[in-house]
Amino acid sequence: MSPPVFRFAPSPNGRLHLGHAYSALLNDRMAKDAGGRFLLRIEDTDQTRSTPQFTEAIFTDLAWLGLEWERPVRIQSEHFAAYQANLERLWAMGVLYPCFCSRKQAAAAAQDAMDPDGQRLYGGACRAMSKAEAASRIAAGAIHGWRLDMKTCDDPAAAIWGDVMIAKPRVGSSYHIAVVTDDAAQGVTHVVRGLDMEPATPVHKLLQRLLGLPTPQYHHHRLLLDEEGRKLSKSSGSISIAALRDEGVTPDAIRRELGFP
Ligand code: GLU
Repeated sequence: MSPPVFRFAPSPNGRLHLGHAYSALLNDRMAKDAGGRFLLRIEDTDQTRSTPQFTEAIFTDLAWLGLEWERPVRIQSEHFAAYQANLERLWAMGVLYPCFCSRKQAAAAAQDAMDPDGQRLYGGACRAMSKAEAASRIAAGAIHGWRLDMKTCDDPAAAIWGDVMIAKPRVGSSYHIAVVTDDAAQGVTHVVRGLDMEPATPVHKLLQRLLGLPTPQYHHHRLLLDEEGRKLSKSSGSISIAALRDEGVTPDAIRRELGFP
């Protein structure tokens, strides 16, 4: 039997903080305990927020913490063709429709229910569009994303996300399609990530079912909180691993504090 495969998959849109260190160290520990492999993947499909400098900083910070990972590292922005191929398979299955709504239009006709990101569920305006009209708009260069038509899927993810966008306008991909494509391409058997990712898991399981991909085991770990009880995040300016390093904190001290001496 081949060994289990774990991965840590950060997005290079800021410096890593202790929450990332916890997730990376936990994946590494679980991989070692299981006699498995530990992969690092760079999730940079959002090219408006990702930079090569942040990618380099991820390598620096994780190496400083004493982590080792397999090379080459999979960089998502090098694999848009693979995500496109899976989108085309879904399109051929009839479970997608193009969505031409601007954010404003989508918000104006949204449902009352909210998704886990705090957005109201899509009202479905573009679902009703004829294939001919959609095709002619696309041929005319209209900007569009692609949504899963949950009516065709009969799946628990429908109630949580509605017709979730799985290829964003101008990007041609999304976190959901990229992560599912890559976990399968890399043979990931165990997805260990924060509880904040738990709501996305039903979408990932649905995509795996539709695409005939294996479903890894999922484990959602606790989130680290700051003194005020808020989860650590890049956007709220949580102290970075690099800043701790500059203050003279050692990797051993961080590993001890996080429970990985
Ligand atoms: N790239 C995601 C993040 O920034 C994590 C994705 C995952 O572990 O599935 O946090």
